[in-house]
This record gives sequence, structure tokens and C-alpha cells, in this order.
Amino acid sequence: MDLGIRGRAAIVNAASKGLGRACAFSLAREGAVLTISARGEEALRETAAAIRAETGAAVTAVVADVATEAGRAAVLAACPEPDILVNNCGGPKAGNFRDWTRDDWIAALDANMLSAIELIKATVDPMIARRFGRIVNITSGAVKAPIAPLGLSNGARAGLTGFIAGISRQLAEHNVTINNLLPGAFDTDRIRVPIRAMAQQQGKGEDEVMAGMLATIPARRLGTPHEFGEACAFLCSAQAGYIVGQNFLIDGGQINSTM
Ligand code: NAP
Repeated sequence: MDLGIRGRAAIVNAASKGLGRACAFSLAREGAVLTISARGEEALRETAAAIRAETGAAVTAVVADVATEAGRAAVLAACPEPDILVNNCGGPKAGNFRDWTRDDWIAALDANMLSAIELIKATVDPMIARRFGRIVNITSGAVKAPIAPLGLSNGARAGLTGFIAGISRQLAEHNVTINNLLPGAFDTDRIRVPIRAMAQQQGKGEDEVMAGMLATIPARRLGTPHEFGEACAFLCSAQAGYIVGQNFLIDGGQINSTM
């Protein structure tokens, strides 16, 4: 299927590794013109080069911390009027809620709630004027089923989800859509964070905790970043204009619910 986004300008943040990288690859294969960001320069440059080599897409790499105003300004300077915006940022630390300070909470809100809101605010009006916009926020399955040691994530992402539920309905008439993609357990560096925390809490080895987690996933495996990226590209497609304000869980069936 041709997703109808050839030549569209796309920002994918936190894209040197993992799920953001996979979203960038999938959009590039569809002909989008990319701006990607991450804090670490080396991995970002490597990813940009790999995307160019595999897809022939134009890729601008911006070294930036998108949890900060300066970082977001640098990304927007490279791509002031994107047609497609994939909001992503590193997840917060794991731990015990008794240890988290106000600063920890502000950092989590900056990274996993306010960063996306600020970038949406900065980019939607030109999208409205052009009558095309696709925004995807990478959140977490934790929005539907909380993950105990990731309370900072459970809270901050729930805040973003509530905001998106309202704002997405205000933009749909302009063919500007916002949806959230909720990863379950994916095979990236990040999956090690909750696994390590649970291993420490339970006094078990990380391999044992991982095996226990896989046993709870009906697909009996981790998701691949490629599977995630392809779903993201579809939500950014011309065909997806009637999908508004939804939360799509991609978790191999792990969260047991009817809807
Ligand atoms: P990952 O493999 O660890 O990759 C994270 C990427 O984000 C890296 O490219 C990293 O590069 C970049 N990044 C982190 N903080 C950034 C910042 N402040 N500004 C710009 N770039 C930043 O993680 P992932 O698995 O792709 O996860 C992506 C998101 O999905 C995270 O929020 C994670 O918590 C969430 N999630 C993941 C899973 C999973 O199973 N993988 C499940 C649920 C939710 P630098 O460090 O160089 O900046």
C-alpha cells in the first residue's frame, strides 16, 4: 500500500535507537523527508546514515534534548513546518515512589508530557492551514495497565493522554489527526529498565524475570521495532485521516481486556 506521504516533511524525535528509529525508517521508506533528533551525536549520525543508505531519503539529524525548550527549538529550526510529527522521548527512571522528589516528577513531565504538548502547539497551525497533519505520540502500555516500578511513566503519560483526547477532537475537521501508540514489551534497550527494577525487587536474575514476562505475553515474544514503526507509518498516512484521538496498544496481547 502506498501511504500517500511521499515528500511530506516529518519530524521523528528520540530517533537514534529503538522505536523512534524504527518509525523514522518506516516513514523514510514511504518517501517522507526526515528530521530526526537524539541527544547522543554518534548514534544519531549512524542512524541518519543508515536511513539514507537504505531508503535514499533526505535526513537531517539534530542533536537535541527534546525535553528542553532549547532542544525543541533546534528541531523546529531544522523543520519549522512538519506535515508529520512523531513525539517520542526517553522514558523516566524506575523505582519506588517514596524516593521520587518534585524534581523527578518535573523531569518526567517535561520528557513524557510537556515536550509533546509544546511541539504540538508549535506545529499544528501550519498543518491546519495546509489541511494535512499527522501527529503520533509514543506513550506506553502503562497508560492502560500501570507498571508498578514505573510510576513516573504511568503518571506523566496519563496526563498527555488526557490532553490528546481533548485536543485531537478540535483538529480533526482540518485533516490534522493526533493518535497515541502504546508499546508493550519491545526488543529495545529500554525494556531492560523495568526488567532490571523487577529483578532487584524480586531478588531474581534478569533472565528469569524476562522469561516470566514473556510467559504473560500471548505472542510469547518481544515486539520488534520494525512492527512498531510500520504501525506508526500507517497512522501518518493519507489513508488514516479518520482515525482520531485513539490509543493503539501494540503488545502481543499482553494486557488482557475485551476493548
Ligand atoms: P530506547 O531504545 O532506549 O531509545 C531511546 C531513544 O530516545 C534513543 O535514541 C535516545 O537517544 C533517545 N532519547 C532519550 N531521551 C531523549 C531526549 N530527552 N531527547 C532526545 N532524544 C532522547 O527506547 P525505546 O524502547 O525506543 O522507547 C521509546 C519510548 O517508548 C520511551 O519513552 C519508552 O519509555 C517507551 N516505551 C518503551 C517500551 C519498550 O518495551 N521498549 C515499552 C513501553 C514504553 P539519546 O539517549 O542519545 O538521546
